[in-house]
Amino acid sequence: MTRAEELSDNLARVRARIASAATAAGRGDAEVGLVVVTKFFPASDVRLLADLGVADVGENRHQEAEAKAAECADLRLRWHFIGGLQSNKAAAVAAYADVVESVDRPKLLAPLSRGAHERGRTVDVLLQVSLDPPEHGARAGVAPDDLASLAAATVQTEGLALRGLMAVAPLGEDPAAAFDRLARIRAGFLTDHPDATVLSAGMSGDLEQAVAAGATHVRVGSAVLGSRPAVP
Ligand SMILES: *Cc1c(COP(=O)(O)O)cnc(C)c1O
Repeated sequence: MTRAEELSDNLARVRARIASAATAAGRGDAEVGLVVVTKFFPASDVRLLADLGVADVGENRHQEAEAKAAECADLRLRWHFIGGLQSNKAAAVAAYADVVESVDRPKLLAPLSRGAHERGRTVDVLLQVSLDPPEHGARAGVAPDDLASLAAATVQTEGLALRGLMAVAPLGEDPAAAFDRLARIRAGFLTDHPDATVLSAGMSGDLEQAVAAGATHVRVGSAVLGSRPAVP
């Protein structure tokens, strides 16, 4: 089997999972977008995915993402940055990312705005909400209590468009319970920001639970590309 055939089969399986999860939730499958997470995999795979109709790809490490986006600049892809973001890298990320999904603190806004400005465009922003219990020390994502103020600061920042929320289910918890919490957080958020309707949640292992809780986008890596090499 060629790599193209393997990716094609995997994509078909993931799309079928999304469609049946959407149907089970009484939603149309056109309401749920797929972001294929290509981290650790080469630009040649990104090209094959684009040929197979993938429009959105996700990356979580700045240097790798920057290089891949440059190698694939001729393809009409939307690049989603989904990883932990350092403020000294944020302007550079805004130079190639169409969507930055992992905005979790006010300090990132000014450099993202600067990067967007240098490129003469608007960057779409999702705010990453932490679903971890508060006693967790270092967590990715804004604490739910701080979401409203981060959202207010985002809409006041030039060059950034607040589109919605992103979250990752914590390890060791039933993802359905975590995504139920997320759905409640989102309902409150939408009363203040009714147009910021994107909800990016769900990965290879829990996309069904995320779609049931209202995800508009799922971020799927290994179920499409295969298992990643172990992180050193
Ligand atoms: C790697 C990653 C994914 C994809 O995970 P899979 O389990 O491989 O589908 C989704 N979201 C984020 C934030 C990631 O870092």
